[in-house]
Amino acid sequence: MLRSLLVAAMLCLTLPAAAALAQSEEDAAALAAMSDKSLSKLPAKKVFGGQKLPTRSMKARAIGSYAKGCMAGGKALAVDGPAWQVMRLSRNRNWGHPKLVALVERLAIEAKEKDGWNGLLVGDLAQPRGGPMLSGHASHQVGLDADVWLTPMPNRTLTRREREDISAKLVVKDRQTMDYKVWTEAHARLLKRAASYDEVARLFVHPPIKAELCKWATGDRAWLGKVRPYYGHNYHFHIRINCPAGSTTCKNQAPARPKDGTGCGEELAYWMGDVPWVPKKKPDPNAKPPKPAPPLTLAALPAECRAVVTAE
Ligand SMILES: [Zn+2]
Repeated sequence: MLRSLLVAAMLCLTLPAAAALAQSEEDAAALAAMSDKSLSKLPAKKVFGGQKLPTRSMKARAIGSYAKGCMAGGKALAVDGPAWQVMRLSRNRNWGHPKLVALVERLAIEAKEKDGWNGLLVGDLAQPRGGPMLSGHASHQVGLDADVWLTPMPNRTLTRREREDISAKLVVKDRQTMDYKVWTEAHARLLKRAASYDEVARLFVHPPIKAELCKWATGDRAWLGKVRPYYGHNYHFHIRINCPAGSTTCKNQAPARPKDGTGCGEELAYWMGDVPWVPKKKPDPNAKPPKPAPPLTLAALPAECRAVVTAE
């Protein structure tokens, strides 16, 4: 009895905010009409996930940190370029800080000209105003992260349907082994080029890809330090750039500085071993499922992000 009363009370409390959101999640003007207090309580994913367009009235800025922030003045990466095509157009996530968009364009063109890589298939950058997403990705929030497929662009323009349906090819057989039927030296050259740009802070790749690059690289190996092994990057890699000049409230991560300079030693051995992949404790089958964390509200993001969702 008490519990149902409590639930009813909670519903009453959350209803006005939810109703307001339903009418206005795509409408900056309606959000702007709300008090800062009620705005703060809205679920951040829904508000940012509902934005269809970037701010027009604000200068380009990355605000906050890669996994907790937003973006003003976002720019769209063209869905078709001379050396790239954007995939999964229905997601509307081909938005980024102009510096990120420029970097993806440059990588596409240079890799096609110089690396024998036939152009990029580009996955998610960010939402039009960045922020948390309703599905996928903890990061990609400030317009400085981009996913690029490890599958080269075909020699024709894909249809919208194909861009939804086609899957990238895995370049690994498992978490320790490359698939040399798929992997080529052009993959290695593409990753080296991306990691070598000054603006790039980190790349994320699946551990055996890092191992392959460590074996492959000759001469200057400093760029390898920026290539970080991480889960899930077996069909795409992730480019993260540094906070651009002018983004004064953007928070860089500590630079990637593996002890041995390249990360090809101890750090790679850790990722190629079992520790990161084996659950620490066996789950207790009798335990109650953990309570899901309440959704992040706008209050959890930098205050400037409320100006970003309400701006024209
Ligand atoms: Zn990513």
